[in-house]
Amino acid sequence: MKIPKEINLILEKLEKSGHQAYIVGGCVRDFLREVNPNDWDVTTNAKPKEIKKIFPKSFYENKFGTVTVLTDSSDESLSEVEITTYRVEGRYIDKRHPDKVEFAENVEDDLARRDFTINAMAMNDEEIIDPFDGQKDLEKKLIRAVGYADDRFNEDALRMLRAVRFSCVLDFSIERKTYSAIEKNAKWIDAISKERIRDEFVKIIDCDKAADGVDLLQKLGLLKYIIPELEKGVGVSQNRHHIYDIYEHSIRSLRAAAEKEFSLEVRMAALLHDIGKPETKEGEGPDSTFYNHDIVGARFAEKILKRLKFSNKLIDKVVLLVKNHMFVSDPERLTEAGARRLIKRAGKENIPDLINLRISDRLGMGRPKARPYRLRKVEYLIDKVSQDPVSVGMLKISGDEVMNILGISPGPKVGAILDVLLSEVIEDPGKNKKRILKKRIKELDKENLSGLRKMAREKIREKKEEEDLKIKEKYWIK
Ligand code: ATP
Ligand code: MG
Repeated sequence: MKIPKEINLILEKLEKSGHQAYIVGGCVRDFLREVNPNDWDVTTNAKPKEIKKIFPKSFYENKFGTVTVLTDSSDESLSEVEITTYRVEGRYIDKRHPDKVEFAENVEDDLARRDFTINAMAMNDEEIIDPFDGQKDLEKKLIRAVGYADDRFNEDALRMLRAVRFSCVLDFSIERKTYSAIEKNAKWIDAISKERIRDEFVKIIDCDKAADGVDLLQKLGLLKYIIPELEKGVGVSQNRHHIYDIYEHSIRSLRAAAEKEFSLEVRMAALLHDIGKPETKEGEGPDSTFYNHDIVGARFAEKILKRLKFSNKLIDKVVLLVKNHMFVSDPERLTEAGARRLIKRAGKENIPDLINLRISDRLGMGRPKARPYRLRKVEYLIDKVSQDPVSVGMLKISGDEVMNILGISPGPKVGAILDVLLSEVIEDPGKNKKRILKKRIKELDKENLSGLRKMAREKIREKKEEEDLKIKEKYWIK
């Protein structure tokens, strides 16, 4: 591997103007591992004003003494290069990154403020500056704090999470003293902003070793400050269908989702799908039950993800997946009406992810196979019925027509009648004909509002109970 020419040009220009210049941090680490860095960072003793003068196509972000230089490269990792003046960090308050910077005279001082030895190297075409033996730790695959670990985590508690992130993204171990210092300081993670925690957590969940990462958070005592709800499943046994406790099943489901390279949303849902189980557990031993853990779990998942400041888009998706994760997927049991109800509940666009979640769930139970051919049958059935009515808009009669036929004005009764019609048509799409619906409307006219609502609801409840039974008898036992 070579330092790209755009970067070398920047280093040369700085040197020609009488300054020192190196690439630094994560890009040196990645360069030495021979993988392409996400971005190339440059460090120099030139002050921001001087850097700006040397690179007219640049802008200065005041806060941390960083000047961003625009290059002509079309490569995303090279089009913007951050040049940061050597600095030491000011005093730390509240275990958080300081917002004041002080410039330093030499590169070693700048490297000393960095988090881990493998991130605390600088290099150019002539030399590698490695005062903390980062190269040795790269070889030994070790995450080791620069200097005295206890102090470093006290300065900035986010570094503990970064240690876990680098450990699972790079597949490295955490060095013994660094590990103990994290155990000791774990509680300070509470002082860190949720946004910074979220960003590191996403990187953990998104990597191949996601499950090891979350498990490491648990072992280090960090998880209980990030997702205490998950910690509650530790040691909580399940029923005859499960060999793992709730926590371990969650971790194994995430492991499966990561191995299958499923999306962030599916991975998150795999980790959280049983989050409602500790609260809903009734009884002990092989006959214990977890009724409504899907509904309760969806509520918990929403609370957790909101707390961690995830986007509404991600939250909505994960909550939907958790809420619907108990869908009937046994092709012998799933009826066409059941498939239509599933589409109505979850939306056709979410079925592939629900199936991926089911695959993760099953693999996470220690079932040898995810039985994908059976799930494909479910997909086929969903496809087959996907043109069938699943919403009021797909009925062959409109609210206006209901009002005309009955001579009534807009009001809740119109909607209630449409709901009853829909619940009946989902059962039997053959009933979605104008003539049949008209006749039925006249019959339904005799019912009062609460009677109508009860009819629509009861249909659904009846089915829900039927499905619960199916799940209990068939799906979990087989
Ligand atoms: P990535 O591959 O995710 O970009 P990175 O190591 O480059 O990994 P960044 O967050 O981009 O991580 O930070 C760049 C460098 O800045 C790090 O390599 C490290 O030297 C330093 N650094 C970042 N965050 C901290 C921190 N909280 N404490 C100390 N040093 C840090
Ligand atoms: Mg970086």
